[in-house]
Amino acid sequence: MPEPSSTRVWLDGRTLAEAVAALVRIPSVNTLQAGPRGDAHGPAGEQAIATVLADRFRACGADSVVLDEVRPGRPNVYARFPGRTDRLVVIDVHTDTVTVENMTDPPFDGRVEDGFVWGRGALDTKATMGVLLALLGVWHRDGLRPEPTLLVAGTVSEEAGGLLGATRFREWIAEQELWIDQMLVAEPTEFRPVHGLKGLVLVEVTARGVSSHSARPDLGVNAIEAMAPVIAAFTAEQERLRTLVATTELGNGTVSVTEISGGSGSNVIPDRCTITVGRRLVPGEEPAEIVAQLTEIARAACPVPCEVVPLLKAPDGKPGPTAFYQSPDSEFVQFLARACGTEPTVAPFGTNALRYSGAAEEIVVFGPGSIEQAHLATERIAISDLVQLAEVLQAWLAPE
Ligand SMILES: [Zn+2]
Repeated sequence: MPEPSSTRVWLDGRTLAEAVAALVRIPSVNTLQAGPRGDAHGPAGEQAIATVLADRFRACGADSVVLDEVRPGRPNVYARFPGRTDRLVVIDVHTDTVTVENMTDPPFDGRVEDGFVWGRGALDTKATMGVLLALLGVWHRDGLRPEPTLLVAGTVSEEAGGLLGATRFREWIAEQELWIDQMLVAEPTEFRPVHGLKGLVLVEVTARGVSSHSARPDLGVNAIEAMAPVIAAFTAEQERLRTLVATTELGNGTVSVTEISGGSGSNVIPDRCTITVGRRLVPGEEPAEIVAQLTEIARAACPVPCEVVPLLKAPDGKPGPTAFYQSPDSEFVQFLARACGTEPTVAPFGTNALRYSGAAEEIVVFGPGSIEQAHLATERIAISDLVQLAEVLQAWLAPE
């Protein structure tokens, strides 16, 4: 059979809205954010949606569908759609949503009303998966194929729990020895291609003192008071970082003291005080070196013995994710910006892309809707955005 000259099809807003709504109606609340409102609709987690996606992918002509159990009852799902060429592109869509306990709207009714699809996950981030399924369905029905070979990954645990699904998908990519040309990580970015995210190191600093009755402070060593100059030192470090000249659009690294605890009674000199320090990394900063730097700052400032423990461990063994960054001039970034009439940008929030550095030639975080509208008491995606997304995905995947 001769290849058709074009795979471009037209999808109307109603069809796309229903495709997204159908996914919203399958609860997939992150297990760490479960609660009574979500539980009323069945167990939290990504099992139900992964099963449905696997069936839909097979029905849309996937030549391989893999359910990959990341945690019990929480599988990633991968589907491969052969293209007209061997060029491999990946679309990663996280399948979990945030909690529904804060919602004032019915979370899972997937209502289509006033030009929007409503419900948890409609925006973050079932829109991209829904539009993609609608597109794949029509292509399959009409005997069409995308230009590149397409690997779609539905990944668990993006919203909480340490990007477990993306961590596992990255391992799977390595196991399969895949060479990926372009990778799109779906998140609400208002159709702006996001080409940079800061990395992160978290450390816990504990000062050790000696307890005594608070009436006799001279007999003890006050760990809380010992922490005061440590906190001041991190404030000074933040001031130093602020004045550095930024080397990329991500700006400068930052450091903040975000938690403090200590003390065992109002009349006891505290023998322990612990703080959490968060350090956002820019390109070129190595997590291990930053941990060493933070340790040095704490030890130099602390008048009593203190311990510094890194709290994160990235899958590559580093104590936290390095920054994700690529040039805004790269081809995929420029293509998406042109197709949408937007400008490339960087983002302050973390996404699965932090796990994929080096896994693909080009990686972009991209999708319809605004992150500022995510995780709220109501959630919705505009049907006009779904229509635009279908156009952009077709321009990318099915050039004539
Ligand atoms: Zn998201």
